[in-house]
Amino acid sequence: MAETIFSRILRGEIPCHRVYEDERVFAFLDINPIAPGHTLVIPKAEVTTLDLLEDEDAAALGRALPRICRAVLAATGTTDFNVLENNGRGANQAIDHVHFHIIPRAADGRGLRTKWLPGKLEADEAKALAAAISEKLQG
Ligand code: 5GP
Repeated sequence: MAETIFSRILRGEIPCHRVYEDERVFAFLDINPIAPGHTLVIPKAEVTTLDLLEDEDAAALGRALPRICRAVLAATGTTDFNVLENNGRGANQAIDHVHFHIIPRAADGRGLRTKWLPGKLEADEAKALAAAISEKLQG
C-alpha cells in the first residue's frame, strides 16, 4: 500500500498525542475529535483495510481495543461510546491505513451521528447470502 500520514506518525516524524503502544498496535488522539477523547487505534503494519489484516495483527488489535476503550471512558467520565472502522472511499475512509475510531458519547451530545436505514431480511435472500458467506469462510 502507499504510505500514509499514519506511517509518519508511527515513525515520530509527525507529532501526535499517543495514548497506547505495544509491539503491533499504536493509539493516539484524533486531530479533529468529534467528542473529547476521540481516539484512533491502528496496527503498526501498513495495511489499507481491515479485510487485508494478518491474523496476528488482528489479534493484537482485538486484545488492545477493549483496554483502550476502558481507559478512554474512565478518562472522559463517559459510559457510552461507538467504535467505528471505515474501509474504502465509499465507506468514508480518508486515510488508507486501518484505524478504529473510539468515540465517546459526551454528556452534551457530542459523538458519532449516523443515519441508519434498516431494511428487511428476506428469507430466500438471507439463505443464499448466509450460504455464500459461510462457504467463503471454509478453509
Ligand atoms: P477516516 O475518515 O479515514 O475513518 O478517519 C481519518 C481520521 O484521521 C479523521 O478522524 C482525522 O481527523 C484523523 N487524522 C487525519 N490526519 C491526522 C493527523 O495528522 N493526526 C491525527 N492525530 N489524526 C489525523
